[in-house]
Amino acid sequence: MAAYRTSGFDFSDNAPNGNLEQHPDLAANAAQPVHLQRNKTERRRLQGLQRSLTASSMKKPAEPKTLRERFGIWMINEGGRQLFFGVWIFLHLLVAVFGFINYQLKDNLVDARALFGVTFTIARTAALILHIDVIFILLPVCRNFVSLLRRTPLNDIIPFDKNITLHKATAWSIVAGTAVHIVAHMVNFYKLAMADTDAKTTGQRVIAFLQANFVTGPGVTGWIMTASLGIIVFFSSEKRRRAHFERFWYSHHLFVVFFINWQLHGMFCMIKPDRPPYCSSDTIGVFWRYWLIGGVIWISERVLREIRSRHRTYVSKVIQHPSNVMELQIKKEKTTARAGQYIFLSCPEISYFQWHPFTLTSAPEEDYISVHIRVVGDFTQALSKAMGCDFEKGKEETPAGGKVVGTNVNPPVNRLLPRVMVDGPFGSASEDFLKYETVLLVGAGIGVTPFASILKSIWYRMNNFNNSKPTRLSKVYFTWVIRDFGVAEWFHSLLHAIEEQDTQGRIEINIYLTAKIKEDDMNNIILQDVGAEKDAITSLRAPTHFGRPNWDRVFGSISEKHPETDVGVFFCGPAVLSKQLHQMSNKYSDPKGTRFFFGKENF
Ligand SMILES: Cc1cc2nc3c(=O)[nH]c(=O)nc-3n(C[C@H](O)[C@H](O)[C@H](O)COP(=O)(O)OP(=O)(O)OC[C@H]3O[C@@H](n4cnc5c(N)ncnc54)[C@H](O)[C@@H]3O)c2cc1C
Repeated sequence: MAAYRTSGFDFSDNAPNGNLEQHPDLAANAAQPVHLQRNKTERRRLQGLQRSLTASSMKKPAEPKTLRERFGIWMINEGGRQLFFGVWIFLHLLVAVFGFINYQLKDNLVDARALFGVTFTIARTAALILHIDVIFILLPVCRNFVSLLRRTPLNDIIPFDKNITLHKATAWSIVAGTAVHIVAHMVNFYKLAMADTDAKTTGQRVIAFLQANFVTGPGVTGWIMTASLGIIVFFSSEKRRRAHFERFWYSHHLFVVFFINWQLHGMFCMIKPDRPPYCSSDTIGVFWRYWLIGGVIWISERVLREIRSRHRTYVSKVIQHPSNVMELQIKKEKTTARAGQYIFLSCPEISYFQWHPFTLTSAPEEDYISVHIRVVGDFTQALSKAMGCDFEKGKEETPAGGKVVGTNVNPPVNRLLPRVMVDGPFGSASEDFLKYETVLLVGAGIGVTPFASILKSIWYRMNNFNNSKPTRLSKVYFTWVIRDFGVAEWFHSLLHAIEEQDTQGRIEINIYLTAKIKEDDMNNIILQDVGAEKDAITSLRAPTHFGRPNWDRVFGSISEKHPETDVGVFFCGPAVLSKQLHQMSNKYSDPKGTRFFFGKENF
């Protein structure tokens, strides 16, 4: 939704600024321990955003007064998403109201209403809503389909980044609809058992009730569906999914059982209409019609994955980086990627069925695709071993820039590099960075991966290398928040290259180190830093900041420097930080001034 407005171009960030002493970061602030204060050379090396700011010049967030101003701000980051989900809820309400009226008034259901009462109408209405949900449930998880739509003007209206939220909302609606449907039918079965002329005693009525549940077609299929849905929901909770992804993944495939039984569930004509044709194929077993579009797209995507996985693909290089990060460079035919996208990777030697998502760190301008994988669990550990990495042994000795463990022509000792299969690439929020003239990219820890490909691509484009397309992007603020230095290492060569080539100061790098640093290490850093032209930790010109970023300062400064500009804020990392940046984007957005458009990715 970014409008194309003018940017406050600012290529003079590196020019000396007379106000340095007033800078909130630099003022001889007594509150900061001596070792955290900036020395003179560091001050000279400070990047534009940090350098030009003085406590007095910092722009305050716009405070909306009128309803119109509030609405303007709301529309920047919340409006599209909330309106979309508002329409989704409205559609459900509409179906519920009209469904209820229809089943309550339909003239060939008089007998059913007389026997069961309002619970008949409720059960049928809930079933109708469930059918509507089945239209939506698969579409948001069809990644190729979503990636394709992202490139159309629909991207300005539909929040495609919220595809998983839509999937979850629809799933919860299915759970709620199922619960209402079951409760209503339990009351109906009770009434059926009570009305059974053959059942005279309480025991016989209980048996009649149980028979309706477990001997009839709708009863049996209904309970199979309920059990499948229950298992799916149980393993889908955030906590269980994070702890045991495989259980979540495999149990989710019970949706096949759920759908097959759903199709059968409606085909038994248990509650008949009053007049013939009692149950024609037009009125019962219609589940497949609702499922068709999503189902066909979903199956096509699975077939596409099989086709893609057979494309000639091989690992051309494996690099072991410090802090348990492995880099895979892969050559794959028929792949065109965009910066910021991700792929699904499978290694049949480990498991044919496991596909794991990893963000591309290579730029589209490069002739290979690469991923940086942090070794955290079963799959990534097995993969790193299969590729010849040994993080236990390599802990101390992994050099800066990483250690090449093997290439396709020179594989690790005693083994060939295993085969990998690649599905994708798929679109993500970060892909939209080219829509803006100014962007703020924020990565936390390994969440920096999407920005590796983006920064490389920006760099290629700005310098017009490799026949890359020129870009309207003129200023990039790249912020990386990391716990400790080791995590940063593999990314350094890229940042170095950018700093060297970026003579116009278009890409501004800010690295924040959040871990507590031992006093000895800090003394060392100070000694090395004095008079040095490069940072003692990163060897970059930009000095490393210690502690967490002051977002008020960052956003205030950007709106100061880029008035009347649409700024894209892209984040990848933990949810807490994402929330902060989302809030900041809203807080500092001014419909008539700088507007911050927030987009995020969560691993
Ligand atoms: C869009 C996206 C991009 C990602 N990009 C990167 C990247 O560039 N570099 C990187 O190191 N990691 C990335 N990840 C995370 C990476 O997918 C997981 O770390 C990896 O799958 C862990 O597998 P495991 O069996 O070794 O660990 P586990 O201990 O089994 O899992 C660790 C975590 O990863 C999640 N996870 C496990 N398997 C999957 C799966 N098949 N699909 C989705 N999530 C899974 C689990 O919920 C858990 O939270 C990305 C994740 C997503 C969703």
